[in-house]
Amino acid sequence: MATTDESVADITEECPRCEQQTPHEVSVEILTESGKQQNAEYSREPYRVSTCSECGTTTKRRMNNA
Ligand SMILES: [Zn+2]
Repeated sequence: MATTDESVADITEECPRCEQQTPHEVSVEILTESGKQQNAEYSREPYRVSTCSECGTTTKRRMNNA
């Protein structure tokens, strides 16, 4: 079975810098947040990372809104 820890896709979305719809390369990164609490469990938050193909602006957005 193939597991996809990383998924990359080219999509079109609005870039705040270009101020228009531009092609973006989108991937998902799991970032471990540590140091916030002394719990035994780490908080692993998925972040959606999109990079504008036109200007190179990278936007990271936490996917977990809970
Ligand atoms: Zn852009």
